[in-house]
Amino acid sequence: MKYKRVVVKVGSSVLTQDSQIATDRLNNLVEFITKLNKECEVILVSSGAVSAGSTELDLDKSDIINRQTLASIGQPLLMKRYKKAFDKKSVVVSQMLMTSANFDSKKQTKNAYLVIQNLLKHKVVPIINENDSIAIEELVFGDNDQLSAYVTNNFEADLLIILSDIDGYYNDNPTTNKNAKLIKQISSIPKEELSKEHTPNSEFATGGIVTKLISADYLLRHNKEMFLCSGFDLSSVYEFLFYDNHTKGTLFR
Ligand code: ADP
Repeated sequence: MKYKRVVVKVGSSVLTQDSQIATDRLNNLVEFITKLNKECEVILVSSGAVSAGSTELDLDKSDIINRQTLASIGQPLLMKRYKKAFDKKSVVVSQMLMTSANFDSKKQTKNAYLVIQNLLKHKVVPIINENDSIAIEELVFGDNDQLSAYVTNNFEADLLIILSDIDGYYNDNPTTNKNAKLIKQISSIPKEELSKEHTPNSEFATGGIVTKLISADYLLRHNKEMFLCSGFDLSSVYEFLFYDNHTKGTLFR
């Protein structure tokens, strides 16, 4: 494996099915992370707290306070699901709740970095999510797309993998244009793409492709790579990472 440290970000649309945590997909993800953890260091950035919370309390999700409330209820439930699944693989996990603003502070970034270093040294998989009680950026816009890019750069990973409901970046929105073509590799994002309208694909998704492109743009400017691929069918990410075979998915490099 040519990568030493990898950040894997999984979106709500992948982890959620019928307003619940999708057990099969979570288990597949855990299996993938476990295998990857044997080859390199792995940090997981996971959404899904709001949907986990909505299994306990039925609140109107159009209200941001309610989404924060559901995230607060759902975060321990989400971690419980991960803990149970990773226990079966004998992988220790940890929780870190962060906000983008933490990375504006050198002191906070360093504190968090030192903890990450120590966790990874002991083969623990840190699971990061936005601290939605005190920050709403990713709840409103992005679903951790941007937070995961900051994590990748500031915690010195080589690659960010975004597991999405889409299998890559297309030259046009593939949900509305059947002739859109997948772009396999791209080294710079056209400026006009970064200011486009947001078109998330599900109730729990918030970013659409734009927040992913903003993250890719940020990482490219910091000489990091990003791989956008399907979180439903993990075969493309297995092929890419374990067999150095890039069949599907978009590599931003
Ligand atoms: P996730 O929850 O997995 O982060 P989102 O639903 O927020 O995913 O964003 C991915 C969605 O963005 C796709 O399913 C698609 O509907 C939409 N989209 C718009 N334009 C594009 C494009 N050019 N390439 C890929 N997806 C696009």
